[in-house]
Amino acid sequence: MVTMIPSSLCETCSRMREVVTPKGSRFLLCQMSRTDPRYAKYPPQPVVRCEGYRAAVEPEDEPDDGESGEGTAKLR
Ligand code: SF4
Repeated sequence: MVTMIPSSLCETCSRMREVVTPKGSRFLLCQMSRTDPRYAKYPPQPVVRCEGYRAAVEPEDEPDDGESGEGTAKLR
């Protein structure tokens, strides 16, 4: 039997900063926690719904064919 682990919104959120300890443990730091007490510094994972979510866009995925690229950016 395979157990599926749901992915977290934090993984593709522009407000997340990845923190990796020297031992290799990985934590997802929510930068919204700096200014808004409703957000935990390290939210319990997975986060499946969040009002603060903003999709991160990778700049290298923007088109270079002269088009504006609006609406075509890929998510992480
Ligand atoms: S704003 Fe929400 S989705 Fe984004 S990093 Fe914080 S908790 Fe995760």
